[in-house]
Amino acid sequence: MQADAPRDLVTAVRAFAEDEVMPVADDLDEADTYPDELVGRMRDLGLFGITIPRSYGGLGHDLITYCRVVIELTRGWMSLAGILNSHIVTAWMIDAFGTPEQKSRLLPAMAAGELRAAISLTEPQAGSDLQAIATTARRDGDDFVIDGEKMWCTNGLRAGLIALLAKTDPQVRPPHHGMTVFLVEKQPGVHDQPGLHIPPLLEKLGYRGLEGTRLVWNGFRTPAASVLGGEAGVGVGFRQFMAGLEVGRINVAARGVGLASIALERAIDHARRRHAFGRPIADHQAIRLKLADLATRLAAARLLTLDAAACKDRGERADLQAGMAKLFATELAVDAALESMRIHGGIGYLKRLDIERYYRDAPLLAIGEGTNEIQRLIIARRLLEQDTGVVSERLPAI
Ligand SMILES: Cc1cc2nc3c(=O)[nH]c(=O)nc-3n(C[C@H](O)[C@H](O)[C@H](O)COP(=O)(O)OP(=O)(O)OC[C@H]3O[C@@H](n4cnc5c(N)ncnc54)[C@H](O)[C@@H]3O)c2cc1C
Repeated sequence: MQADAPRDLVTAVRAFAEDEVMPVADDLDEADTYPDELVGRMRDLGLFGITIPRSYGGLGHDLITYCRVVIELTRGWMSLAGILNSHIVTAWMIDAFGTPEQKSRLLPAMAAGELRAAISLTEPQAGSDLQAIATTARRDGDDFVIDGEKMWCTNGLRAGLIALLAKTDPQVRPPHHGMTVFLVEKQPGVHDQPGLHIPPLLEKLGYRGLEGTRLVWNGFRTPAASVLGGEAGVGVGFRQFMAGLEVGRINVAARGVGLASIALERAIDHARRRHAFGRPIADHQAIRLKLADLATRLAAARLLTLDAAACKDRGERADLQAGMAKLFATELAVDAALESMRIHGGIGYLKRLDIERYYRDAPLLAIGEGTNEIQRLIIARRLLEQDTGVVSERLPAI
């Protein structure tokens, strides 16, 4: 059943995460098993259409609601928020830049969770430096022909739709003027089809249960009509993807908030129950200082994340806000996972507690969707572009 009001949806997702996800997350993580049943429940809740307009069959919620849902999902298991991320980024890009035909054909199937999407920018030799990608798409009659190798495509195997960044004019300078996004439709769940080979899945430290894939394109034909935005989209794909990645960074920031929250919740519970030197460890000042610092940073991370979502919801450029939220919330998640483990003492290092899963999942947040070093560069560039003045008045504010 789908909950329509934002608050009802967040409440329903919290119940889902606590009652259905938490009891099985460690086992699914350990076995690296794709969570088919949980994904089915996410589909029932309408999450694959959470931000897709109602006119296309989605729930039509704003990104603030999306953030709250991602926080709840991550409290249960971060991988579920990753299953949603590239799908929602692609849906956002189609809604923002797609042709009427692309919107009316793809968005309803995406909202229903029948068609699931992945994003593919990164290559073995180019991640941060996306202008150095080597995958090409060459026009041939009514088609484009794709050649090249992509790396780290989350959901790449099960996706039926891949938003792919390729060079349509490799000679043009600066290189980002020669890049195009293709909405590539492929067979889901298949390792080999004409022009596309998906090698065995990548084995990851954490963020398990969902697939990280390489995509080897070799003469794959996709119709010219699959260019995001049609003919007008040729050569502007880099700009389209940068706008879409702001939604991705907001998702990752919300994951940081969710992971830090559950790590802190577990630490507070443990600190109340565990005794040392005749009293609960929560009564020792050194533990209290840790809890206070984490809680204060968590409150700030949550505000930054919701502010970035609000900025994007207003249709404004949000790279500064999304970058700050992603940077701050994910560094917190890394620290909170470790601090929670330390507050748990030896038991936190055991595989049977979820604390060690948080510790393995958290570092990805500092790397994926643009590393935190790159976020710092984006933030600094925006600061230096702006007029001088009272800096604090030009920074995020709810
Ligand atoms: C589990 C996982 C899932 C992913 N999912 C996807 C996905 O679905 N789709 C997709 O397209 N990609 C995905 N990625 C790729 C991810 O976005 C990249 O790994 C990330 O952008 C970094 O790129 P890179 O790995 O090539 O590192 P590099 O770009 O090689 O960077 C290596 C180091 O150098 C630093 N560095 C690079 N340039 C600078 C600079 N100018 N100044 C300072 N430091 C710099 C980086 O910050 C980093 O610390 C995923 C990655 C992982 C691990």
